[in-house]
Amino acid sequence: MRSPRFIVIVGTGTGVGKTVLSSLLTRRFVELGGLRCVALKPLCSGGRSDARFLRRAAGDVLPLDAVNPWHFREPLAPAIAARRAGREVRAEDVVGSIRGVAKQGFDLVVVEGAGGLLSPLAEDLDARDLIRRLRATPVIVGANRLGALNEIFLTWDALPRAVRNRTTVVVMEPRRTDLASRTNLPELRERLGDGRVVSFPFLAEWENTLANPLPPGLRRPLDALIAKITDRASGPSTPR
Ligand SMILES: [Mg+2]
Repeated sequence: MRSPRFIVIVGTGTGVGKTVLSSLLTRRFVELGGLRCVALKPLCSGGRSDARFLRRAAGDVLPLDAVNPWHFREPLAPAIAARRAGREVRAEDVVGSIRGVAKQGFDLVVVEGAGGLLSPLAEDLDARDLIRRLRATPVIVGANRLGALNEIFLTWDALPRAVRNRTTVVVMEPRRTDLASRTNLPELRERLGDGRVVSFPFLAEWENTLANPLPPGLRRPLDALIAKITDRASGPSTPR
């Protein structure tokens, strides 16, 4: 079993659970040991709390400015917030920064994007470009609600076919299930393949879980996701 060097967590939109999943996945990798793992949110806008959670999840091994080198005051897509702040961020700087962290002795770098797959991260960069340039393993995160099928299929379809081969979909369950959330999961598994989709339980106060060993109810879906990610990274369909 071989782990990918870079995992890019992409949302179907904003506020769907990327930070929760990125943090808990990172924490689980750290708990399992054997790999030096870190999580980055290269671009934040409208606050750096995501980066703080990711930093804590990895055990505070990097300073905040390394976890999040670019941050902007206005809560907009980072490229827009940067432009309005009179700054310009280039793809090569972002990719270079992520690779630079990996070279500090990390085996695995979890990268949280901002917003959805095509949300402008920099003038010439979105999360899809980031996946391509890092040859990353993508994880699509979507909220399980009415409309989720469309959101997830749109994101899935926007990925190049070769990249889809190594993509896993994580469905964040709502506080209370409803008819849509109950029927979405089997539909996703039917269309994308049973092995593509992981259901993640609703967490009321997920931040607190970072202070303690993860409970079995979280370890199970995280280990299922890790198995899928690592299988795909070493599988024959992984493009080089
Ligand atoms: Mg987030």
